[in-house]
Amino acid sequence: MQPTRKLAADLQRSAIEEGVQDMMIRQVKFSKGFVGRLSHGADLLSELTTLCSEKDVPFGRVEAIGAVQKARIGFYNQSKREYEFITLDQPLEIMNLTGNVSLKDDKPMVHAHITLGDRDGKAYGGHLAPGTIVFACEYIIQRIEGDTYMRDFDEETGLPLWKS
Ligand code: ZN
Repeated sequence: MQPTRKLAADLQRSAIEEGVQDMMIRQVKFSKGFVGRLSHGADLLSELTTLCSEKDVPFGRVEAIGAVQKARIGFYNQSKREYEFITLDQPLEIMNLTGNVSLKDDKPMVHAHITLGDRDGKAYGGHLAPGTIVFACEYIIQRIEGDTYMRDFDEETGLPLWKS
C-alpha cells in the first residue's frame, strides 16, 4: 500500500471510530486540464458548465480570475434549508473563483464559490449563481481521473451533496 493511500485509509478509519459516519475521502489523480478565456457577456456559471460538458470533464476542479459586469451570489440559510440570493448590479473584480465538477442528474455540475471586489477594495462572496455576467475571465479547469462523485439529495442538510 502506498503511503498516501494508507494515510487516507487511516483518516477514514479514525473518523468512523470518532462517530463521524459520513466523512468521505478518496485519493485522486489530476489529469488533463484546459486553460482559456470566457466570452464577454456570457453567464459565468453557465459557460463553465458548458465547457465541462463539451470537454468531457465530469469530475474536476475549476478556478478563475477576471471581472464581472454584475453578479448574483447565494448564501445557504441552514435553518430554512434554502438559498438566499443577492444581486450585485455593478462591475466587480473576480478576486477568486474556486469550484469543483461532479455529476448531478448525469450531467456535469460546477459548484463554485466566488469572492468579488468593488472599486473600494471591499469584498463580497458566496455561492456562484446564474446571473453573474462575465466582463473578462481567465479560467483553469482540471480533470480528475476515475469515477466521479454523484450528487444526490442529503436529508441532513437539504443540499445535493456527494454520495460515495
Ligand atoms: Zn456552494
